[in-house]
Amino acid sequence: MDIMQSLYVHFPFCEAKCHYCDFYSLGRERTRAGDPDRFEKALLLEATQSAHLLSKELDTVFFGGGTPSMTPCDSMARALEPIWAHTRITEKTEWTMEANPSSIQLESFKAYRNYGVNRVSMGVQAFKPEFLKLLGRVHSREAALQALHDVFEAGFKNVSVDLLCGVPGQTLKDIEEALLTFTRFPITHLSCYLLTLAPHHRMYSQLPNEDTQLEHLLFIHDWMTAQGFEHYEISNFARPGYRAQHNLRYWQGKSYLGLGPSAHSYDSATQKRWKNVSSLHKYGNLLDEQKSPIEWTEALTEEQLHLEKWMLALRLDEGFPVEWLTRPIQKTRAELLKSQGLLESHPAHAQSMRLTPKGFAMSDSVIRSLV
Ligand code: SF4
Repeated sequence: MDIMQSLYVHFPFCEAKCHYCDFYSLGRERTRAGDPDRFEKALLLEATQSAHLLSKELDTVFFGGGTPSMTPCDSMARALEPIWAHTRITEKTEWTMEANPSSIQLESFKAYRNYGVNRVSMGVQAFKPEFLKLLGRVHSREAALQALHDVFEAGFKNVSVDLLCGVPGQTLKDIEEALLTFTRFPITHLSCYLLTLAPHHRMYSQLPNEDTQLEHLLFIHDWMTAQGFEHYEISNFARPGYRAQHNLRYWQGKSYLGLGPSAHSYDSATQKRWKNVSSLHKYGNLLDEQKSPIEWTEALTEEQLHLEKWMLALRLDEGFPVEWLTRPIQKTRAELLKSQGLLESHPAHAQSMRLTPKGFAMSDSVIRSLV
C-alpha cells in the first residue's frame, strides 16, 4: 500500500438539506441529540485505527461534508488527535475547510485558522434570494457577503468560492452579477458546477437546455480568464499558483485516505478504492465494536483504470499525450473534435492535446466520443 500524503475528513452535519444535494449529510431535522458527540467519538476511533496509513508529513488535508464549519474547532481537534500524533503538516501543506455562510462567524474563522486551516472553500452557490430559496440554501445574500468579509478579516489568503450555474431562471446578467460580487473580494479560486438533477427530481424539467448551459459556461470562462484566472479544470478557475492541490491529487489518480461516514479512499499502489458506510449510526456502531467502517472495497480493473486515466486527463488543462490515440478510430474522432472546436493541440506542449473551453463545457460528450 502507498503511504498516503493526503487526508480527507467528512463532517456529516448541515443546517438543512439543500434541494439538490447528493452528499451524505444530516440536516438539523434529521440530526438527533447526541449525534455530534457520537460523531466525535467515532471519528476519534477511526483516526486511531487509520493514522498509521498516513505519511509523516501531509501534502494536503481537506475537511469536507456536509458542513465542517458546523463542527466546533475543539471537537475536530479532539477527534483528530491520533492523526496529529502520527503525522504533521508543513508550511507547504494545503489544508482546506469547507464552510457555509450561515454557519460561521469571524471568531470561528479565527479559531480554524489557529488550528492550522489555511484555505477556505465557501459554499455560496448564489446571491439572488429567489435562487437561494429554490436551491434550499439557508443563507441570505447579506450572510454570504458578511462571511466573505469575515474570512479575509480573519487572515485567510487562500479562499475559494462555489457558484452554481444552470439554475432554473438564471440569466447571464445574474451570473455576471455573482462573478462581479465574488471578484470584489481577493478570492483565489472559483468552482463553478452545473446544477445536475435526477430525471425524477421536481425541478428537472425547469433546467436550462444545453445551448443555454453552453452559453453560460463560455461566458464564465471568458469572464474569469479576463480577470486573470486560469481555467485549469472543467469546473475550476484559479489565480496562478492557487490551483486546488487536494482536488488535483484526485484528478491525477494519487492516493488519499478518507475518514468519516461516506468518505472514499484510494490507494494508487494497489489500485484499490474503498468507501465508508453512509450512515452515522452504522459508522458509530462499527467503530464502537472495534470494527472497520468500510462498506465496500473494489480493485479497479484494467478497463476501469484505462477509462479513469482518460477521464482524469481530459478534465485538466494539461490534457493528454497524443500517443494515447492508438486506435485509428480515436485519431479520426480527435480530428473531428478538433474541427468542431472541442479539442486543440496544447499551446505549450506540442505532443499533447486538451479540451478547449467549449470542450470543457461539453466534456461528457467529448469523453464519450474519444474514450
Ligand atoms: S450545504 Fe452542501 S453538503 Fe449540506 S446539504 Fe447543502 S449542498 Fe449538501
